[in-house]
Amino acid sequence: MSFADLGLSDELLQAVEAAGYTEPTPIQAQAIPPVLMMKDLIGIAQTGTGKTASFVLPMIDILAHGRRRALMPRSLILEPTRELAAQVAENFEKYGKNHDLKMALLIGGVQMGDQLKALAGGVDVLIATPGRLMDLFERGKIMLTGCELLVIDEADRMLDMGFIPDIETICSKLPVNRQTMLFSATMPPVIKKLADRFLSNPKYIEV
Ligand code: AMP
Repeated sequence: MSFADLGLSDELLQAVEAAGYTEPTPIQAQAIPPVLMMKDLIGIAQTGTGKTASFVLPMIDILAHGRRRALMPRSLILEPTRELAAQVAENFEKYGKNHDLKMALLIGGVQMGDQLKALAGGVDVLIATPGRLMDLFERGKIMLTGCELLVIDEADRMLDMGFIPDIETICSKLPVNRQTMLFSATMPPVIKKLADRFLSNPKYIEV
């Protein structure tokens, strides 16, 4: 299996080559084609498996089409910690440098004013920790009704950190007609229930 077999655009294949990757990891080989076909996905994978690129690469291709709207992020990636959120943002910058995609990071410990400015003109990708996102949402500073692509990353860590109620609230604010991907290293019953409620007919991948 090579990256060229997965259905990614030539621009993305160039970005992958520039990153020095010669072949997709198992999670990438299995996840990228269904994600490009707009399917929901459950990926059981640890960090270090190449999991991030398995959703960031196809998302860039999907987001390359369509337009931004003020205060309405087009996609949302939920991460349990600031550090993971920052890493995903770096991945977007690395793989997406040939694309005009606007990204905003909403994490605790950063001035809210600056984050709001980043959201004002609309963003393609919002990468957030649940606490800060809920805070802005409750103040009416952000709308999630335009968000047609959602990633819940590290779901089992979200559970350990007590974020599941926030995630349920956030999921229920997004349009029902959306694509959702959930990644987790393990699948405890609470996460299974979350997936049953918020994903529709997902492709299940375990690496
Ligand atoms: P992740 O599991 O997403 O945290 O990725 C772990 C590391 O693997 C990161 O440093 C990536 O840059 C690297 N990586 C991701 N995909 C590949 C690939 N196909 N070939 C080699 N390294 C990769």
